[in-house]
Amino acid sequence: MQKMTKTAQSDRRNPRHPSDLINVRSSVYVPLLAVSALVVIVIVVLTGIAIIQGRAAAQSALSTATTNLASVLVQNIDNSVHRIDLGMLSILDELARQKKAGQRDDQSILDHIAREDSRHPDALGFRIFGPDGRLLYGVSNIVNRDGDMSQREDFIQIRDTPKTELIVTPPVKGPVSQEWLIGVARRINNPDGSFGGAIYSALPIRHLQQIFSVLNLGPGGSVALYHTSFLLAARYPELRVGTSTISDQLRAIIVSGVPSANFHNVSPVDGVERTGRVQKVGELPYYVSLALADKDWLEEWRQSRTQLILLSAVLIGIVLLGMAIIHRVLSHWKRSMVALAESQEHSRAQTALEEKLRELSRTDSMTGLLNRMAFIEAGESEFLRGKRFGSSAALLMLDIDHFKQVNDQYGHEAGDCALASFANVLKKMARTIDVPARFGGEEFVVLLVGTNLSGAAEMAERIREAVSQIVVIHRGREFGFTVSIGVTAFENEDENFSEVIRRADQAMYRAKELGRNRVSLVDGKSLT
Ligand code: GH3
Ligand code: MG
Ligand code: MG
Repeated sequence: MQKMTKTAQSDRRNPRHPSDLINVRSSVYVPLLAVSALVVIVIVVLTGIAIIQGRAAAQSALSTATTNLASVLVQNIDNSVHRIDLGMLSILDELARQKKAGQRDDQSILDHIAREDSRHPDALGFRIFGPDGRLLYGVSNIVNRDGDMSQREDFIQIRDTPKTELIVTPPVKGPVSQEWLIGVARRINNPDGSFGGAIYSALPIRHLQQIFSVLNLGPGGSVALYHTSFLLAARYPELRVGTSTISDQLRAIIVSGVPSANFHNVSPVDGVERTGRVQKVGELPYYVSLALADKDWLEEWRQSRTQLILLSAVLIGIVLLGMAIIHRVLSHWKRSMVALAESQEHSRAQTALEEKLRELSRTDSMTGLLNRMAFIEAGESEFLRGKRFGSSAALLMLDIDHFKQVNDQYGHEAGDCALASFANVLKKMARTIDVPARFGGEEFVVLLVGTNLSGAAEMAERIREAVSQIVVIHRGREFGFTVSIGVTAFENEDENFSEVIRRADQAMYRAKELGRNRVSLVDGKSLT
């Protein structure tokens, strides 16, 4: 048993033992899980970075585009106004020249105005109003010749402020042209400095609408021109001119007076979320606002974001699938290893059991000596060895004298004690290489390996002597017994081990016949 435990321990120390391999494989899980988790985290982080960077890049591109476009628009409107101003100055010069020359040629003034009108197709038409606000001269776009300017804020400002320079009005409906426009005006001074009227021209709103409409700002984009009073001058998509629907953010930018700013808001006009740029039109009281709908400029980014998310989901899926496959393979492998370990354990236990059973089947349970069958097996193999190598061996056949009487007198239990004492004597006296055994009942045998007849006789005599000294104490009663021993040695003529047994048996009976408690030798066929 002790021997078995040691074997099991040494098996466990052996790294090839299946249970050790299971542990080795189990330890693969932790790094495998860690690596997979790391890969998943890296994929998620990289995807996140790519998405954020993609949005920043799209925003930067948008900012550049709106800034450039707003600058061009602002430049365009500013130039238009200044070109109109140049036209007005030219007409004013002609008026001044005529006044200086003391002549006033209406036709030549109208011709001059017509010339300037044709030079400025973007402008609505140059008109000169008298100090009372009534039209004096005008050629193009005259719908209402009786249009009265006297009540207009800008006219009153020009009339009442001698040092007024160029005036650019909020969006208004022209009283002469009956059309929405941005008025551009200058004061006309009499030689004495008194108010001599005003010269007007205008940027028609339809002209601005036309410019705005050709810009490609995407399906949700918008462009607008606001007066600093927050009145809308022009917008695309079109909205009623003169309304003051403006987001709080744009209002705040205009109030702050900054020349330009980026903005992002939800339009109060159409509820669309937009990002764009607002820029002041030079020195004029106007701001251009230009914006793209978030859903338009983010569309491309959103598509690439979806692709990135899908791609990373596929990658994560592949990692997880790989993990699942490895897990499955390892689990299967582990189960196989457990089954192998169990079957090895089982077969070891079975072998031990079989060994034990074999041992039991070869042992006499009462005395612990080999039984008859096992003894014959050992004897036959020794017989063959002797035959092959010519080695000597001898056999003692021992039979307890009058054992029946022992049983009768002291009882069966006492008889069993006597048999055990007898067996102990045999065990003690036999050498390691000798084979003592219970042959049956009160008959015993001892195979003496490497011993000849005389050596065996000596051994038999010592045993007989020792047995005669045995005192069995059973239930307070003491008794002894004797043994008769037949001795024989293996002989060349013997054909099998049975012949040796038979001869030893004969010798033992001879000892009985001669009076028991003695040793009888048999040498070949002659009994002594
Ligand atoms: P002999 O000197 O001629 O050998 O006389 P014996 O009485 O010993 O011989 P016999 O063959 O007549 O009797 C053998 C006895 O041994 C009979 C049997 O009861 C007894 N015996 C055999 N096996 C056992 C055993 O295991 N235990 C006990 N107590 N007695 C046994
Ligand atoms: Mg007998
Ligand atoms: Mg007997």
